[in-house]
Amino acid sequence: MKIALLPGDGIGPEVTAEAVRILKDVSEHSGRAFSFSTHAIGGAAIDAEGAGLPEQTLEACLGARAVLLGAVGHPKFDGRMPSERPEAALLALRQALGGFANLRPAVCYAPLAKRTAFQPDRVKGANLLIIRELLGGLYYGEPRGFEASGNTAFNTLIYSRTEIERVARVAFVRARERRKKVASIDKANVLETSRLWRAVVSEVAKEFPEIELEHVYVDTAAMRLATSPASFDVMLCDNLFGDILSDQAASVAGSLGLLPSDTLGGRVDLYEPVHGSAPDIAGKGWANPIGAIASAAMLLRFSAGMDKEAAEIDHAIEDALSSGARTRDLAAPGERALSTRDMGQAVVDALHDIRDRRHSYHAV
Ligand code: NAD
Repeated sequence: MKIALLPGDGIGPEVTAEAVRILKDVSEHSGRAFSFSTHAIGGAAIDAEGAGLPEQTLEACLGARAVLLGAVGHPKFDGRMPSERPEAALLALRQALGGFANLRPAVCYAPLAKRTAFQPDRVKGANLLIIRELLGGLYYGEPRGFEASGNTAFNTLIYSRTEIERVARVAFVRARERRKKVASIDKANVLETSRLWRAVVSEVAKEFPEIELEHVYVDTAAMRLATSPASFDVMLCDNLFGDILSDQAASVAGSLGLLPSDTLGGRVDLYEPVHGSAPDIAGKGWANPIGAIASAAMLLRFSAGMDKEAAEIDHAIEDALSSGARTRDLAAPGERALSTRDMGQAVVDALHDIRDRRHSYHAV
């Protein structure tokens, strides 16, 4: 199974290395062969090849079974127009791969309840899945740009029925495997696109009578994420609202570094942690690799059909956290913090323990 690796910028290569480590471990243990090829994207690619998304990178991604990305972005490109920044390469890649549904699970792991930004008893049990529409809305709408004066800028928020229908269906299908609730997020009291969004989601909901649907204004959703995140199961969002609310969901989980994602529905699935390139901590060995490792688990589940192995990695992450493993973003003041590499190793060790326990259980 061919996996294209795009480590990218900043902490991207650091966290991707830990995701690859766990995939290699799974490969050794299961006998399933993975072949990895590494390619440049983002700022690293602009520096090396003059383009954020070089042709060879795109070709390799389109020829792979799955793509695993670290992060893109570097402050040295901050003055550039959006189309010339490393982030444009990621938008172009997402568009070329064609995945329109971005799945972002956010779990408040029990051992971290005290580390979230919220009161532990409020976030306890929070386990939500944000489904973000990824190929439409404000991020791609045309026309966009600056007027000649440079003092006025504009973007276009546009959604079609087809775009809404297909992502809504993903949300309802996923809700079937979970707690059977979909909260569709919009701003239908102000935006026409949201009114269409609400109408189309309600129509799709009729195909899924077993799923409970509620429509929630985005401002109320932000408030509920802070006060009662466990009241959500699947949150269906457009591109912009999903981007913002998933960062908020990260504070429910305890750190942005914990959140994984999968983008599906296109030619090749794209797996990446939700966080960016974190230039403030890049190169220090402080990055939390769990979002990248959990993205690798999603890859095993959705692209490799290896459900058991994926569940074992999720379990190993929780075990490592329960045993006190913490990177700096999770460590309490005075608590020892592990490096990125040591956190990756702690998850691998926990995975080995899980397998050993399973083995001895079967032996008995
Ligand atoms: P960011 O996600 O990079 O960082 C936000 C904060 O979270 C920082 O304090 C950072 O140190 C911390 N953080 C992020 N990931 C972490 C991890 N794994 N472990 C520990 N701490 C972590 O967002 P930003 O600072 O707004 O953006 C930095 C750059 O990344 C920008 O160029 C931005 O455009 C880009 N970006 C890229 C992606 C992507 O590649 N998918 C996503 C978001 C932002």
